[in-house]
Amino acid sequence: MTSYPGLHIEYLEADPRLQALCLRYWRVDGATGRFAETVARIYREENLSQSEFTALVRRHSRAWSTVMKCSRCAEPLLFGTRTDFISRREDRPFRCQACAATEQQQVDIAKRLRIVQSFEQAMAEGRPLSALRPRHCLYLLALLKYAGSEDLSHIRPYCQVRHERLTPLREVDRDLINELWRAGVIAVDPASDAAAIELDREQNARVHFNEVRWHPVVQGLGGVALHERLEAHVAQPAFLRRCLDEVRECCEQLALQECLAFLEMALAEYRLGYRAGDKTCAMIKAALQVFSVAQVCNVLYRAARDAAAFYQRGGVSRDHAAKTVVGSFERLMEKTLANEWVVAPFRRNFNLQQSVLSRLIYNRVLGTDDGGFTERNDVLLGRLVAAPSQ
Ligand SMILES: [Zn+2]
Repeated sequence: MTSYPGLHIEYLEADPRLQALCLRYWRVDGATGRFAETVARIYREENLSQSEFTALVRRHSRAWSTVMKCSRCAEPLLFGTRTDFISRREDRPFRCQACAATEQQQVDIAKRLRIVQSFEQAMAEGRPLSALRPRHCLYLLALLKYAGSEDLSHIRPYCQVRHERLTPLREVDRDLINELWRAGVIAVDPASDAAAIELDREQNARVHFNEVRWHPVVQGLGGVALHERLEAHVAQPAFLRRCLDEVRECCEQLALQECLAFLEMALAEYRLGYRAGDKTCAMIKAALQVFSVAQVCNVLYRAARDAAAFYQRGGVSRDHAAKTVVGSFERLMEKTLANEWVVAPFRRNFNLQQSVLSRLIYNRVLGTDDGGFTERNDVLLGRLVAAPSQ
């Protein structure tokens, strides 16, 4: 009678009857190399239920590997059950739980150190508010409004904010955060969850972009004071006068994003997926020279409906049908302009609420109520610039 080769059984009870029972569980048939008895046979003969029997074996004995040892502290591998043994006997090298936990702690400390270094460097290089690009002032303020912590000391991980939109499109949100990070306007907060940061072989930190916390980097300003100063900075009439070109650029981008978000939604309603490329963007930009976002949405809606009808006539894939939307849009625009048709403006869709950045720019800085949706940017900005400054 032997236990499995490579297995050492430790009894935690002196009771010979319990020891014999545990040995029956772990005993192996020398000829076949398999466990000598089935578990079912043992517990039935002993008048126990299966769970009672396995609990008893676990409580009164431990099976250690005589072959596999933790590669860090050399503690032998411990098997709780036969299944555990069978599934793990080829599994080498391994770390025991205590060593794995210690190593994880060391990795976490290394990550934290790396992030603290980058953070301190970023803070040391932080520029004063007056030296930030106007668009970065707008972006940072919008990001603080969107994801700022309650005391405004840091910016919560993007993945934790779901209640509104930072910009009309999720991928643009990412670009915005990335731009602020690359420009040194925000830094990865050292208090980020360690799991959101990875270290590569050269010990360079790679961050899970959506999962890290961010910290604003503006020289001499932070928390509520930074928010207040940013609010005051972008709301003064001089900001708009001085930074008109950058504000206009932000407005044009927002208008395009509003239209793309609408198109995506309109096509999704017909279960047509579509990724807008350069051509679509160019068409929409041209349309925005003539119409407001609200009107362009009307034309886009009809183009999406045409694409859906084309698909329903059959014989084409969803993908192919969705791609016809650009051509339809172009034709509809040409007809509309040639016939001088009046295009009724759409109302903002409930599922596409005004984004935080749009509210900041159009409502707060430009003093309109969602003006970017209902009015053309050049008309709106032209009027504001022409208005006598107070
Ligand atoms: Zn170990």
